[in-house]
Amino acid sequence: MTSGTTSLSATPPRKAAAANAVIRVENLQHAYNGRAALKGVSFEVYPAEIFGLLGPNGSGKTTMFRILSTLMLPMGGRAVINGSDSASDPARLRQHIGVVFQAASIDVKLSAHENLQHVGHLYGMRGAALDARVKEMLGRVGLSDRANERAETFSGGMQRRLELAKGLLHHPSVLLLDEPTTGLDPGARRDLWQYLAILRDEENVTVIVTTHLMEEAERCDRLAILSEGQLVALGTPAELKNEIGGDVLLLEARHNPEELAVRISQRYGAEATVLDDGKVRLEQDQGHRFVTDVVETFPGEIQSVSVSKPTLEDVFIRRTGHRFWTEEQQAEAQKASAKKRSKKH
Ligand code: ADP
Repeated sequence: MTSGTTSLSATPPRKAAAANAVIRVENLQHAYNGRAALKGVSFEVYPAEIFGLLGPNGSGKTTMFRILSTLMLPMGGRAVINGSDSASDPARLRQHIGVVFQAASIDVKLSAHENLQHVGHLYGMRGAALDARVKEMLGRVGLSDRANERAETFSGGMQRRLELAKGLLHHPSVLLLDEPTTGLDPGARRDLWQYLAILRDEENVTVIVTTHLMEEAERCDRLAILSEGQLVALGTPAELKNEIGGDVLLLEARHNPEELAVRISQRYGAEATVLDDGKVRLEQDQGHRFVTDVVETFPGEIQSVSVSKPTLEDVFIRRTGHRFWTEEQQAEAQKASAKKRSKKH
């Protein structure tokens, strides 16, 4: 076969950018003490896109993040950023990336200006050029008027913006962020996402962001969804949701959800599954019409029904067979329902 052979299959226009993918992750594998955390994950990230790594707790996001940021070597496969391999050429790779970790890395006893000066020195920047860059970055993240105040006087959102300025000081073309909005209030979250979009649009920065929040994943240009160390979905949020088509119905059975799911599947030829919380879930066109039919067909057996448009959680459920819930969310939901129950009595 000659090189340059074109594929016969229809290629969506975005794939044309694949030739110059900024990040290539190929069959990446990693295990801790023999327990697999990444089981052969592959994807590509294109120039100037905001790419999300979405997954519940324990799905492998942080492991992927550590490998991409050269903190850890993968046990198998490769991660390449701008042509530099994370295993064989980590120093060169690091020149291309800015990294914002989940844990704070700024020195809160220093001013915003001093924090950035310090980082600049680590990158070998000096004198007037460094001073100009520090001022520019402080302006970019809206901290010019607080430049000389200690970071400990800043709000959580301001501190996170200083972290961002730190990650971007050396003009990286790729920015890696690990769960960047953890602990931020909704306003600060919005600001941060707006800023990421500006970086992408005005500076052509490619952004990779890990998250377990659906509403954040919705803001990404494309997503890789991870579950238990495996890639379970890849695409734009719209593409992924469109795969489902129709509506998503959740039914609460009065008696036995498993039995109801089996009977619904038999009656309508649609796959009905019982979720972890005992709800019966199925996908149907024209969900509202279906509701009337199913309630009439199984009189007295259905306690409640909800109809909704597919969400990214539905994509996750469809691909994995279980709900997307972090342990905290599950614990929180259980706490809330226990509270409700105790109020009733
Ligand atoms: P996420 O960031 O999506 O929560 P992680 O990459 O942190 O996922 O974890 C993936 C899996 O690897 C989990 O089962 C986790 O318990 C395990 N793991 C992560 N870090 C370590 C570690 N340092 N030692 C042992 N197991 C780990």
